[in-house]
Amino acid sequence: MISTALEEGLISCHACSLVANQDSRRCDRCGSILHSRKPTSLGSTWAYLLTAAGLYIPAMLLPVSTVNTFGFSETSTLMGSVITFAQSDAIPVAVVIFVASIVVPIFKILGLGYLLVSVQRGSKQGLLQRAKLYRFIEFVGRWSMVDVFVVALLVSLVQLGVFASIEPGPGIIAFAGVVVLTIFASNAFDPRLIWDAPDDGE
Ligand SMILES: [Zn+2]
Repeated sequence: MISTALEEGLISCHACSLVANQDSRRCDRCGSILHSRKPTSLGSTWAYLLTAAGLYIPAMLLPVSTVNTFGFSETSTLMGSVITFAQSDAIPVAVVIFVASIVVPIFKILGLGYLLVSVQRGSKQGLLQRAKLYRFIEFVGRWSMVDVFVVALLVSLVQLGVFASIEPGPGIIAFAGVVVLTIFASNAFDPRLIWDAPDDGE
């Protein structure tokens, strides 16, 4: 069995990674406050995650863009734009919007929710798989700005001539909230908690 730094009475600095004794309060090198695990990691991750999940609903239901043509205005949701692009044979654009804006956020929310529940239950199942899942969520998180970029693209791509104008709808604010909050949530989660599952005579 590999022992953890926590069991060995060691603690590493969040800012500069210097290893210190567990009884030190501040890092000898950079002066940061030391803690073995991110304090309130589970609570903060839940808070960000549930808010993100709540905002996902208006992000999907509210229009992300309004197209005005000769006084006639038409609103479109994210899923609506995916369908519009698919129907006008712009399949790659439809796929990018579908994956970046609909699949990735829900994957991040469900993945982090699963990690939180399994850590809270002290589960010892699939520790390595869960560590890899967290790494994958972090990796996907770096590309979250693609989601926002996609919507900006969406607004600028649709060209309906001189007499048309496109305005962002309220859905885009909820959507940007989802993106930012899922980044905060994966940042607040301390993956070392996965390995803290109690040893129950295994
Ligand atoms: Zn330090």
